[in-house]
Amino acid sequence: MRFVSLFLNNRLTIAPEMLVSPVKAVPFSELPTVEQPPLNPTFQYDEKLQQTLYGKSLLFDELLFTIEQIQQHYENGYVKYSPGISKTSNGYLCSRCRNEKSRLFAAFSCFRCKSDNCAYCRNCIMMGRVSQCTPLVSWNGPKVKWSHENNLHWNGELSSGQQLASKEFVKRIGSEGELLIWAVCGAGKTEVLFKGIEKALNLGLRVCIATPRTDVVLELAPRLKAVFPNTIVAGYYGGTEERETPAQLVISTTHQLYRFKQAFNIMIIDEVDAFPYSYDKTLQHAVSRAVTPKHFLLYLSATPSKAMKKATRKRTLPCVKIPNRFHGFPLPVPGMVWGGEWKKRLERGKLPAPFLNWLKAQAKSGRRAMIFVSSVSVLEKLTELIKKIVDVPVESVHAEDPMRKEKVTQFRNEDIQLLVTTTILERGVTVPFLDVAVFGADHDVFTESALVQIAGRAGRSKDDHNGEVLLFHYGKSLSMIQAINHTKNMNKEAGL
Ligand SMILES: [Zn+2]
Ligand SMILES: [Zn+2]
Repeated sequence: MRFVSLFLNNRLTIAPEMLVSPVKAVPFSELPTVEQPPLNPTFQYDEKLQQTLYGKSLLFDELLFTIEQIQQHYENGYVKYSPGISKTSNGYLCSRCRNEKSRLFAAFSCFRCKSDNCAYCRNCIMMGRVSQCTPLVSWNGPKVKWSHENNLHWNGELSSGQQLASKEFVKRIGSEGELLIWAVCGAGKTEVLFKGIEKALNLGLRVCIATPRTDVVLELAPRLKAVFPNTIVAGYYGGTEERETPAQLVISTTHQLYRFKQAFNIMIIDEVDAFPYSYDKTLQHAVSRAVTPKHFLLYLSATPSKAMKKATRKRTLPCVKIPNRFHGFPLPVPGMVWGGEWKKRLERGKLPAPFLNWLKAQAKSGRRAMIFVSSVSVLEKLTELIKKIVDVPVESVHAEDPMRKEKVTQFRNEDIQLLVTTTILERGVTVPFLDVAVFGADHDVFTESALVQIAGRAGRSKDDHNGEVLLFHYGKSLSMIQAINHTKNMNKEAGL
């Protein structure tokens, strides 16, 4: 968008071009530094705009308000404009995602500012283009007063482990700091959050649950709306967003956190070890930008990273473990099965005998199974072979599969009995009466945490707590042994 700077009421100010034509306009990034207009206490600000914008940093396009309305709030000091992209000594800086890598910037011929060379950030483009000519709009007026009446409507029971973790979380609400809840797969971590969230909301604090996966947002948002019926709850994910909802409790994918600025007093980061949070520095930045200066961070994980485990041992990171599953039965310990040279055999269109025997028995049993493989090429070959050998519904799924969602649903509905998958489904899929096999478990992609997550798919229902987990390998890997020890130790800690 092109802006002009002009004198208005004896003061230098700035305004979008269309509101003050025919003065000559320039792109936002070329404006001189202008002092923020002082807050006019007699101005009747729009509460809806306040609630939408408070704690956020948005593009004009993301706001369902007219440019006139926004500009009026700017002139009266209630809205702030800041550059989306600024020039630095060695390139550009994106103010939304803090990207500074020059390879993640590009320039285009821009219809808004009429420049042939308007630079924009590619790193956060999925949330709308931030370019040199786009200002980021934020709220500069009074804070939103959140409701103090957010009672929890839930009378379920917590397991002993859940209770302990819930208490630790509640105790810390209202103070700064951090806590790791290390909960085994199937521990029931959502219920652990309820009491702490209730306390925070009733103190007038704003809470966010950030997760790397959209399906978690889709699953959690309705659950939280149901247990906090008097609270405004919103889910944020790519595609459909409840963007306009001024929510006190937000469930967001980690990427969508870029939209927020100093918004949350309590930030809960689900699956903190999972991609992309642990790999992407700008996402870590997004978390630190989305929280208020004084804040509390809660991390949830079944498989914390080495760095986190080290911090808990040094006691620099407080940690509470939930070693037992919600239903009280132990975690299935993976078994190791020698599978011979699985790769070579597969290339010759053959399966190792132990795997073949397991496959036939599994098909006969009528129970569902997930078969994890190391790559898409193994996936394709193996699925083709399996389809020739057994006479039950078999499908395969991987990250780029356009039918991924549909296939997972079919698997849940028992329309598929054997599902061959890459590690993409190591988390999230929960179906009862399930066994798990890893074909080629000695491959590098099967790290300790991947194997723990994979094994965590089995035995999650109390009616079928004993699902089988088998690792078919050509030589035990360290990760396999670590994953087995991890599981045994958790069972031991749970007294099982
Ligand atoms: Zn960016
Ligand atoms: Zn432009």
